[in-house]
This record gives sequence, C-alpha cells and structure tokens, in this order.
Amino acid sequence: MKPAIVLPPTMSVLERGWLSSNNIVFNDGDAVSIVDTGYVSHAAQTLALLDRLRGERPLTRIINTHLHSDHVGGNAQLQAHFAEHDCSIAVPSGLAAAVAAWDEQALTYAPTGQRCERFMYDRLLDDGDVLTLGALRWDVLAAPGHDPHMVMLVNAEHGILISADALWENGFGAIFPEIEGESGFAEQRAALALIEQQAPRIVIPGHGASFTDVATALKRAHDRLDALASDPARNARQVARVLIKFWLLDQRSVALEALIAHFARARYLPLINERYFHQPFDQFMRCTVSELAAVGALSVVDGIVTNVDAVS
Ligand SMILES: [Zn+2]
Repeated sequence: MKPAIVLPPTMSVLERGWLSSNNIVFNDGDAVSIVDTGYVSHAAQTLALLDRLRGERPLTRIINTHLHSDHVGGNAQLQAHFAEHDCSIAVPSGLAAAVAAWDEQALTYAPTGQRCERFMYDRLLDDGDVLTLGALRWDVLAAPGHDPHMVMLVNAEHGILISADALWENGFGAIFPEIEGESGFAEQRAALALIEQQAPRIVIPGHGASFTDVATALKRAHDRLDALASDPARNARQVARVLIKFWLLDQRSVALEALIAHFARARYLPLINERYFHQPFDQFMRCTVSELAAVGALSVVDGIVTNVDAVS
C-alpha cells in the first residue's frame, strides 16, 4: 500500500480527471488561492468543489501553471464569482500579449479544437518569482517542454513540487512544440533534470494522483521521452490521440463525420497528418480513431464515436 501523503494543513488538492486539471487550494487565512481552474465545461463543478473547502473565505487569487484549456477554463467564471473581492489572475508571462489580445491561435484553443472562456490576467509569473500561498514560500520555476511557457511551483521547506504537466506519476503532457517543428524534447529533458535537482519529496501533478516515488516517475518519464525523441512520428501520433480523446471527454458521444469535420477545422490534426503521415485527412482520422478504439479509449458503433472511461 502506498503511504498516505501528508500535506501542510494550509493546502488541499482537488484531484480531477483528464478533462480538468487538478486544482490546488491554499488557505491564506482570511482568503483562499487556487492553482489552475480546470476545463470550461467543468467550471460550475470547480466552483462547487472550491466552495466546500473555502468556507466563508473568498477566493482572491488564481494562479495558472500554463494556459492550456484544461488548466484555465474556470478562470473567467471564478473571477466573476469573486469579483467583489478583486480576485486576481496570474499567468506565465510568455503569453501575456496573447491573453490580452485573446489570440486563440497562440493560446492553442483554435488549433487544438478546444474551448476557453475569455479572461484577462492581472499579474505575470516569471522564473525566479516567489509567491506566498497558504503561508508557505513557493518558488516559480520555468518548465518548458510540454508548453514553452509553463511554470512549476516548488516549496523547498516541505519538499513539495507542483509539477503541472512536466511530470505525472506515469509520464508527462504531450510535447506540443515538436509538431510545429519547434524544439520541445530538449526542454522537457531539462525540466526533468530540474525536478531531479530539486529532489522533491512529494509531487502534485497537473493530472492524476500526487506521489512520493519521484525517482521511479522520473525514470519512467526519461524512458518515455527517449522513445518519443527517437521517433518524432510517435510523438505526433500521441498528440493526435490526446486531442481526439480530450474532445470526446467533453462531447461524450459524436458522429464520426462530425468529429472529422471538427478536427479538419482545428489546425493541429491536419498539420500532424501533413508533416508525418501524408494520408488523405479523412483516412488519417479514421485510422487514429480506430487506434483509440483498439486500446479501449472510445467505441465506434454505427458511425457514432463514444468516449469510454478508463477503468481503474
Ligand atoms: Zn497542458
């Protein structure tokens, strides 16, 4: 049996699924702060979960590790809900201009075929910044790879790392920059080295359970990264699968034709096919959907694609 993970009493982890990232809630005394806010279609659920933890305390700070839709989707609704308490939003500085202009291409919502309710940041996060959350010191560490602008938060006193999508118990977030011909594997390798150097006792990932066997997780992540870096088409295939599965988590059930039409309009899937697989788009999509069906991630019956939740 795994040992129970004991966190400082001023922090709680809301472990969500894959459509919504985990949320970490900090008790700041007379207010609370939250790290990451889940996907837009779960915003009401995020608010309800937060309500159970916060008591009478208002939410006054939202901190985002990165701007992917599954980490910032509740920003707008949470900020509006706590508007009278001047709830602020802090985002990594790299995409500040894109947020201000709400550039859905740069923010990846358009090319991934995902949604996010518009919000505006109040503060920016940079590598080396220090935050106080739950009366604890958190150092902001840049961790590009999965996303060029992602940050992690580390508390050295208790050896706690909020790793976002740089390290999960079993893997890490897909390396998106590589499919656009930009570097991501090298940055992910550096992020893993940085985690090793920090030597955390407890990792709270962006998705999945918190864990303490960091050495094993790092080994798995290195092995996986080596496999992807040696075969970029494998990484591209992984990104394609992740995007389809993610959309199905939200849609639950959709006609195969509608799914193909949706992703024909989202830039990443056509891009992946053009760069790596060179098939007619329709064929590429049917093939990828079949692969997902073969591993039990979805089912296809009479032209209807339905999400299948992983059994654990
Ligand atoms: Zn992400």
